[in-house]
Amino acid sequence: MASNVVADDVGAVNSNLDDDVEDDYGLREACGVFGCVAAVDSQLDVPQLLALGLTALQHRGQESAGMITGRLECASFKKHIGMGMVSQIFTEEILGKMRGDLGIGHTRYSTAGSSALVNCQPFEVETLQGKIAVAHNGELINCKSLRQKVLKHGIGLSSSSDSEVITQLLCGSPPEGEPEGVDWEARIKQFMNESPLSYAVLVMFGPASTRSGTRTGTGHSVWGPCRGLLSLNSLNISLPVTPSKVLKKEDTMKNDLHDDISHWAQLIVQLSRDVNALLVIVADLFHNNYSKKIITKEDSNFEPEGWVVSSESCAFQSIGAKFVREVLPGEIVQITNQGIKTLAIVPRPKKDPPAFCIFEYVYFARPDSLLQGQMVYSVRMRCGRKLAKEAPVEADIVSTVPESATPAALGYSEMSGIPYAEVLTKNRYVGRTFIQPSTRLRQLGVAKKFGALTENFVGKKVVHIRVASPPVKYPCYMGINIPTKQELIANQLQPEQLADHFGADSVVYLTIDGLLEATSEGMNLQDMGKHTSHHCTACLSGKYPVQPELW
Ligand code: SF4
Repeated sequence: MASNVVADDVGAVNSNLDDDVEDDYGLREACGVFGCVAAVDSQLDVPQLLALGLTALQHRGQESAGMITGRLECASFKKHIGMGMVSQIFTEEILGKMRGDLGIGHTRYSTAGSSALVNCQPFEVETLQGKIAVAHNGELINCKSLRQKVLKHGIGLSSSSDSEVITQLLCGSPPEGEPEGVDWEARIKQFMNESPLSYAVLVMFGPASTRSGTRTGTGHSVWGPCRGLLSLNSLNISLPVTPSKVLKKEDTMKNDLHDDISHWAQLIVQLSRDVNALLVIVADLFHNNYSKKIITKEDSNFEPEGWVVSSESCAFQSIGAKFVREVLPGEIVQITNQGIKTLAIVPRPKKDPPAFCIFEYVYFARPDSLLQGQMVYSVRMRCGRKLAKEAPVEADIVSTVPESATPAALGYSEMSGIPYAEVLTKNRYVGRTFIQPSTRLRQLGVAKKFGALTENFVGKKVVHIRVASPPVKYPCYMGINIPTKQELIANQLQPEQLADHFGADSVVYLTIDGLLEATSEGMNLQDMGKHTSHHCTACLSGKYPVQPELW
């Protein structure tokens, strides 16, 4: 029997393709965040690195992008945001005007309707303690009540973005007060305790200014909390008026810097990934106490030139940075221009285990990214091998709908002994179909995206579809745009009906157990905490890490 086995791309999960759902859904993000801090005396071109990092994260959001940079000797930030792709927004001319010693960037995806310049990130606001800038990846599941809390305090909000809510929440003092001056760590912890998930945030703080424009008190800083879908990252910078001096370690952690300390160079980046991390932010770069350096100077000591953090490790290769480690669930990490330090690990309320987004492995993450100590590509291959065991079939060739499913098809081919051959070619100039703001755009994207390699399957009349993921049946409330149960094809058609719908001879999905096994098999739990083997499978199983009634 002449057959093809096609590992389907799960991007085609929506069947109700004629509906434009954009007005029915609020802001939902599956974005990318990237931060960079230059080391003392470094010549790092921070804006260029941010642009390269965001380009590497382009698959996480193609609607808009932005960055904010800060300089040690200046209380103000430089900000540039725009709609479109990173390369269109950040021209050489723009980057030349963004020079800074540290910065945060964001590339954004949301449901349409929220895809507007006003919602572009990073956000920045002025506070008594100086400017604060926030880049957020994820979705606050209790955003409605948190918005109310902010508004009740008489604070106006200028956008529909939950990221602006985070920004405003970080501006408020924690309940215990701040007798010794602003305590950003306490504020971040307070925020993490108030919002169970999901977020990964980079926050950058600037020093307070006097009327004459000179800085007072603390220097710039970037901080970030992350729960659920994202990590909390933060950068905190104080100005180095006298860079030759060395700031004491204990002093770098304080924000109530007295005059003497305010003369020292201090960059602090704080990272944290929620215990319920669905999306990982990887702390990385060029050297620290845990690590090896990444970008090095040409001197014999190979001192690092800075540090970067990113939603995915794939961004590091493109800038010559070396992977250091992942941020632990709930961890708050601080990065200064002198290194990285863990400030705290904030447990989830009720000590629930973490719930890393399993869909990162299935679809979202780039195959060359490392998640939980393993390469995404390898996990996808294992999914294909599992599928070959769970759903064997006699066939002449194994093929794929590129690209997420390609490693799975190769794994299926390897395990089954059926040769692999391509039957579709991808137009690389068409954007990712799943990461589009509306169902209609996704539909058009799919149609434009593929061409058939007809000679590779000439004479083949039987097609079996094997899907390297369990069926997506439930919406995600934690940052991924999976609209409603009704719109998901797996809730409308049984596999046999689906086969008819596609004109195929059979359709079989990978089981949830198969996916969990493929995902867990290569995890490196060293330094990751014993709870990190837990994954969120809510869109597949309906079991949410936080009960839906809470949102
Ligand atoms: S529901 Fe699905 S997409 Fe959303 S966080 Fe969980 S596994 Fe990821």
